[in-house]
Amino acid sequence: MNNREEVWDTLNEEPWDIIVIGGGITGAGILRKAASQGLRCLLLEKKDFAWGTSSRSGKLVHGGLRYLKQGQLKTTWHSVHEREKLLSECDGLVEPLGILMPFYEENKFDPILLKAGLTLYDMMAHRKNHRSYDSHNISKMAPGIRQSGLSTGLQYYDAKTDDARLVLRVLKDGQLLGGTAINYCSVEQLCRDQKGRVRGVTVKDMMSNNTKEVFGNIVVNATGVWVDQLRAQVGEAPKMRPLRGSHLIIPNWRLPLAQAIGFSHPADGRYIYVFPWEGVTLVGTTDIDHEDSLNLEPSISIEEGNYLFEALNEMFPSFQLKAEDVLSTFAGVRPVVHTGKKDPSKESRDHCIWEEQGLLTVTGGKLTTFDLLAREVLDKIKPQITHVNKQQNKVLDERQEMTSHSILHSHLGESMTRRLYGRYGNGWDSFIEEIEENGCEFIPSTNILWSELRWAARHESISHLDDLLLRRVRIGMLLPSGGREIINRLKEEILPVLNWDEERWNNEVTRYNNIWENNYSPNLLQR
Ligand SMILES: Cc1cc2nc3c(=O)[nH]c(=O)nc-3n(C[C@H](O)[C@H](O)[C@H](O)COP(=O)(O)OP(=O)(O)OC[C@H]3O[C@@H](n4cnc5c(N)ncnc54)[C@H](O)[C@@H]3O)c2cc1C
Repeated sequence: MNNREEVWDTLNEEPWDIIVIGGGITGAGILRKAASQGLRCLLLEKKDFAWGTSSRSGKLVHGGLRYLKQGQLKTTWHSVHEREKLLSECDGLVEPLGILMPFYEENKFDPILLKAGLTLYDMMAHRKNHRSYDSHNISKMAPGIRQSGLSTGLQYYDAKTDDARLVLRVLKDGQLLGGTAINYCSVEQLCRDQKGRVRGVTVKDMMSNNTKEVFGNIVVNATGVWVDQLRAQVGEAPKMRPLRGSHLIIPNWRLPLAQAIGFSHPADGRYIYVFPWEGVTLVGTTDIDHEDSLNLEPSISIEEGNYLFEALNEMFPSFQLKAEDVLSTFAGVRPVVHTGKKDPSKESRDHCIWEEQGLLTVTGGKLTTFDLLAREVLDKIKPQITHVNKQQNKVLDERQEMTSHSILHSHLGESMTRRLYGRYGNGWDSFIEEIEENGCEFIPSTNILWSELRWAARHESISHLDDLLLRRVRIGMLLPSGGREIINRLKEEILPVLNWDEERWNNEVTRYNNIWENNYSPNLLQR
């Protein structure tokens, strides 16, 4: 990634074709698409890349089976298509996930209708990938689930990912294609031309508190659930309904699963998913109005925790799971447009694009469909970018073959090598240099290498310790107490790379511990 200070110094040398505000998956997708079309594009992120909803999603890359149930064929078709594309382009980062849906005698559902739905879902992906099982086989496939009343089950496929790494990978591609991205740069004010149209922004470097005016032909507001804050500056009324969803992370030895289990919550019938992710088990999610200030980092409430435990203990009674079993928690806020529905879960998850006095706002949608959004945004703004000689569809140079690295294969085996290849994308060649220099040692109890931390510290725009431990790698969610046990070794590994002195290190550790305690800790379930 580019060096922050160098990028800051050159930010206003000449006007940009596009300024994208927001460094989540939506902004990253637009940066990559614009850069691939030869446009000069700048992305500004107020906090860290993927700090917002894009590191706090359910981590499913899915076709949206529930849209199909609601008759939204086009939305499902688009999502399935995007899922398939991501599976093939990001092998190792986006991986197939089998989802088993057990059914019980008391469940009211029409098996024929459900099978027809899954057949259509599969047809959209041009394959047959679902099966029904009798109760005997379901019990063997998921031994921990409730046995009494089990009647039948269906298995289908979607995919899972590491959402923050997906953002990083797309951003990296965007930068290699000529785009520019900088984190910890907040857009404070929109700048207008004489006709009142938005033509630039006042941006504040959150590390130094310096400000600058930066101009561009098009300004895109891709700030997710925060879009109304910038829209207010052009006099527009708020449109968003922030909806919080929270998750639990449980060690896999307490809730071991070979694939995802999807089922209806006993209280309200909402869909609950539980699946193996990064060596732990992830449980989600809730869907409630988020009434806290959007300026605060979201966290799970006691009620949300109780709701998830009610579902878990109904589906996995023999495990007797309780709050003490939880490793970590996290909460995200969905950018959903308010249409006045009483039930939050009935609000549409479709994306929207609004043009208001030169400010192009793009919000809603899903992690899965970011590239679709980017294509729509680029199609919309193309007519306004006539002055540049657009170079259509730049492509990245081929990276080295995954198989050309016998060191990785012999030390790590194929699936770990594939995992790394998927994660580091077009940074692969320099990642390999890090491994060749520093080896393949794992951080205990994880599938993460110390080399990943060092490489991120060196190349991935780390300004704070939480950038490294919560988003570049997910140590803060995967290890007890956010990884406190490895903190001394971590210091030895990364301090020389980051050039932090003792005082800075101590401040960063304090900051990280506060963030973790207030937003990721299992103690939030028992406050
Ligand atoms: C609980 C939950 C579960 C979900 N599960 C899934 C799932 O399984 N699969 C799926 O496909 N989708 C899922 N989603 C939806 C998906 O996560 C979101 O649609 C997506 O992450 C939104 O990305 P974004 O880039 O639009 O917003 P964000 O990721 O929130 O990015 C917006 C960024 O803008 C920045 N910003 C704000 N104001 C400014 C400013 N003034 N200047 C500069 N930057 C600014 C913020 O810091 C933030 O980083 C889920 C969402 C939630 C909440």
